[in-house]
Amino acid sequence: MKIMNAEFIISAVRPDQYPDDALPEFALAGRSNVGKSSLINRMINRKNLARTSSQPGKTQQLNYYRVNDSVYLVDFPGYGYAKVSKVQRQQFGTMIETFLSDREPLRMVLLIVDIRHAPSKDDILMYDWLKHYEIPVCVVTTKADKVPKSQWPKQVKMIKQELSFHPEDRHVLFSSETGLGREELWDLINEVIEQ
Ligand code: GDP
Repeated sequence: MKIMNAEFIISAVRPDQYPDDALPEFALAGRSNVGKSSLINRMINRKNLARTSSQPGKTQQLNYYRVNDSVYLVDFPGYGYAKVSKVQRQQFGTMIETFLSDREPLRMVLLIVDIRHAPSKDDILMYDWLKHYEIPVCVVTTKADKVPKSQWPKQVKMIKQELSFHPEDRHVLFSSETGLGREELWDLINEVIEQ
């Protein structure tokens, strides 16, 4: 997809700060360091719009990026960061559950996992929440450049099995390093918007 413009809109910490223009939203969830910022930067062809240093501990912040004045990519806080407190963990849970259950413009969640590893408990919990709230999911297996192509099918199969991946959900192989999967993911986003 051709990117005409991409803007960082807001780090929202409260629902009243979420945009109210009703453009479709695609949220990105995944553990800290999985590569969410790099994926956003690759999607919008910018080196540093999404900060590549994740901000652990900012458990309530949703970063909104608007692309081509037509769609939002919404970066969820990375989870699974060891040093967050129990209270922060609870705040994260409450914020995300409220968002997933109430957020009308949300069209799909991109669940970002590292192709090299089995999904974490938090990834599985997130996937289960998404199924519970009946939100369409695309599992994005990123960092594909870090394993030989011959191992991709085996890794993807293992990840789907561990998540109990539902056949109606989608999957895209991705690498922020090489750009693999970028067009496919934009095609999917546009397909979902047009539905
Ligand atoms: P975030 O915490 O989920 O936002 O993760 P980042 O985007 O900051 O990425 C964490 C680290 O993984 C950084 O050092 C990135 O350069 C690296 N990284 C992210 N995506 C990829 C990828 O597709 N391939 C490779 N080789 N490295 C990646």
